[in-house]
Amino acid sequence: MISADTPVQFLKGVGAGRAKVLHEYGFNTAGDLLWFFPYRYEDRRYPTPIADLGHHVDTPVLIRGRVISAHARVSPVKRMRIFEAALEDGSGAIKLVWFNQPFLADQIKRGDRLAVFGAPRLSNYGQLQIESPDWEKFEGDEEEEGSIVPIYSKIGNIPPKALRQIIRRALESLPSLSDPMPPEIRRRLRVGELVPAIEALHGPKELTGEFLGRRSPAHLRVILQEFFTFQLALRVRRATEEVRVKKRAMTIDDAMRSEVRRILPFRLTKAQKRVVKEIADDLRSDRPMYRLLQGDVGSGKTIVALIAAILMIRNGHQVALLAPTEILVEQHHQRIRQLVDGSLVVAKATGAATAGERRTLLAGLRDGYIQLVVGTHALLEEKVAFQSLGLAIVDEQHRFGVEQRQRLFAKGEMPDILVMTATPIPRSLALAMYGDLELSVIDELPPGRRKIKTAVRAPSHLEKVYRFIDGEISDGAQAYIVYPIIEESEKLNLRPLKQGFEAIRKRFPDRQVAMMHGRMTPADKEATMQRFKDGEIDILVSTTVIEVGIDVPKASIMVIMDADRFGLSQLHQLRGRVGRGARTSYCVLVSDLEKDRLEIFSKARDGFEVAERDLQLRGPGEFLGTRQAGALRFRFGDIIRDHHLMERARDTAIDLLASDGVPRAEEIVRQLLGMDVAATARD
Ligand code: ADP
Ligand code: MG
Repeated sequence: MISADTPVQFLKGVGAGRAKVLHEYGFNTAGDLLWFFPYRYEDRRYPTPIADLGHHVDTPVLIRGRVISAHARVSPVKRMRIFEAALEDGSGAIKLVWFNQPFLADQIKRGDRLAVFGAPRLSNYGQLQIESPDWEKFEGDEEEEGSIVPIYSKIGNIPPKALRQIIRRALESLPSLSDPMPPEIRRRLRVGELVPAIEALHGPKELTGEFLGRRSPAHLRVILQEFFTFQLALRVRRATEEVRVKKRAMTIDDAMRSEVRRILPFRLTKAQKRVVKEIADDLRSDRPMYRLLQGDVGSGKTIVALIAAILMIRNGHQVALLAPTEILVEQHHQRIRQLVDGSLVVAKATGAATAGERRTLLAGLRDGYIQLVVGTHALLEEKVAFQSLGLAIVDEQHRFGVEQRQRLFAKGEMPDILVMTATPIPRSLALAMYGDLELSVIDELPPGRRKIKTAVRAPSHLEKVYRFIDGEISDGAQAYIVYPIIEESEKLNLRPLKQGFEAIRKRFPDRQVAMMHGRMTPADKEATMQRFKDGEIDILVSTTVIEVGIDVPKASIMVIMDADRFGLSQLHQLRGRVGRGARTSYCVLVSDLEKDRLEIFSKARDGFEVAERDLQLRGPGEFLGTRQAGALRFRFGDIIRDHHLMERARDTAIDLLASDGVPRAEEIVRQLLGMDVAATARD
């Protein structure tokens, strides 16, 4: 009899080789595999006969059949590489077409049996075909024929079918599983028992809308368990933490106030003033500040950080500002030096420093001569020590890992901490997520900021867009042209970018056109970005790697190709790269799909509105873009999609702690954590 503790190598179908692979992925026991849920399901009960596809135009359906022909060709029109296959199922045959995926020729061969999922549509020649469908080789497995098949993410080289069998074996251990969640918590959270939930997630009886929308009782159970554990652990930790009292006593006097007023080149917005006050109160309190400053791109976070820095420095302590790239550090350093005009000793720390510069820097930080240092990761090196680091600021905080931020904070003695981000997260969500962080929001742009004119244009109108760009460049402007790049497993498919780059270079023979993408080394990317900033490049053709927060005042045009492929929040971030100078700025979304969504975007006022819309429209995981969401990732729950559940978990945790006390709450956390469903990451 198998139990949840049975080591994976004792499951049938797992030999030494597969056991090793499973171990590498952290699956040691049958119980571990129970928590490895499918990411989608395939309803193989009712494949649509190919002869009936005419009734399903533009609706995704599952079909199944044998490949009767397969070949690759190059389309003469757009020089696109096309792979075509014909699938036959006894009732009829249909053409399947994939674009720019030549490698499919090695994967799909005549005679293969395929399960294909996609929407049939009429081609220009009036023929029914399915473009770029999902597909899977289908090996006619008796057991799986006519059922709902769970589809799991790949684990090493274990074939999908074998993996399904292994997990089916692991499920036999379910009767031995005890529920780690006490009934009274289940009642408070309004969730059911664990075993039926796990059963349903691996083998649903029906694919209802509720289930596919991850709102079934089974989903609620695992997501709420995960969120609740996270929230309760967070609150227990806070309740048991000794009260931390800073040793610095801070005062803010009139001399400091007038110094701040003197360096300000503009009047602060109301929102900036409010945030400055929130920060000043924190600095004066005897508990260390731990504050997240959110503000849309261009909302003016830097000046707020600088004011905080001046207050700290005038109280006799040092300040460090950490930024993700050299070019951002350079920008901050220049701007800050200009503003303070010699009244503070400001230094920068980057990887590019010479040995001599480094020695001076290290000595200056150690003896307290340097009052404010702006730096990249170079700041985090062990050798960097401060005489007295009073305030640590992290710009674009999502670009740093938890332990990197910690390394900076550890260089001071309970320093005050300010982390900044341009990622707009709805407030309720931010509060639920960062339970122990105070939150400040700059929800207002500086006055006079002109709205970036945003328009949606069909690809057939590109020439017109190009003519417009050319005119603006003659007038001194610079342009970004961004291509979406699909990350296909590990390898980036750069073809669309490279083709686009070549085409644009041909179209603009008299202009300086350069290309930038994520496969370039960081140094090459920075060099390209610097050349753009210096005005040596007129048009930068790029993936989404363009630096966040970078100021290129003359860059006033942002063209986004295949704009429908981006989340609204991502579009907003991209658009924020222009509109930083005096010129009227433009953002052109090139696409003829998803017009409605793109129109909503072009009218939205700010990042928060975009975020809320995006949240409503896009759902699952797409909202923040995977990289940004990385720091906030849970295994089952999605803080965006499930933010109401996060709130429920938070309220329940607070109630429980109040009614049952800390020791009982600790016991429950221990019990829940034993099941290894803790959050995988957290700040
Ligand atoms: P972000 O919040 O994206 O980091 P920055 O701090 O880089 O924004 O500010 C964007 C631009 O707006 C900068 O050029 C800055 O000098 C300017 N700025 C900031 N606050 C104000 C203000 N209150 N009035 C006018 N301009 C401002
Ligand atoms: Mg910034």
